[in-house]
Amino acid sequence: MCVGRNYVAHAKELGNELPERPLLFLKPPSAVVADGAPIILPPDSQRVEHEGEIAVVIGRRTRRVSEAEALACVLGYAPLNDVTARDLQRTDGQWTRAKGFDTFCPIGKTWRAVEGMDWRGLEVVCRVNGEERQRGRAEGMAFGIPLLISYISHIMTLEEGDVIATGTPEGVGPLHAGDEVEVELLGLGRVKNPVVDH
Ligand code: MG
Repeated sequence: MCVGRNYVAHAKELGNELPERPLLFLKPPSAVVADGAPIILPPDSQRVEHEGEIAVVIGRRTRRVSEAEALACVLGYAPLNDVTARDLQRTDGQWTRAKGFDTFCPIGKTWRAVEGMDWRGLEVVCRVNGEERQRGRAEGMAFGIPLLISYISHIMTLEEGDVIATGTPEGVGPLHAGDEVEVELLGLGRVKNPVVDH
């Protein structure tokens, strides 16, 4: 499950307003790849972009939880790249194709949440060829992690191992064949992937 437009500056950079409630979309499980696996640029798109994000990994079946109960359902956090065909996102009007290509969801290893940690302090950094392109802290989200879990769990049951991508901060940009893109949860872990042509 993914959240769109959850940071003010990123919504603005694409010419969008912040939504009144979380804007949700799905990526298919077949898009998921691990650290080191290539991101394959599809022939259908001329503009594929990186979106570094903080992912929440659910630890148990979660249904209709309050915000106060939400963090107890979290196993941990992981770095995630919500790779997006920006041209197709604009032309299609909905995002299934733009977000759903094989290899468009690199996810790093889960860093287990520990008692008393504050999710607001999580920070995500995205680098392309070693150069920083994006940086954002969870405290800058329009809708915070407990709200997102509660909101989604009132729509659908979340299962152990489900992943919520919480939105990307400003600085999204293009990926080209030969690039190496890395998303890091600062101090916790990273997922790094080469970009290749189809
Ligand atoms: Mg995203």
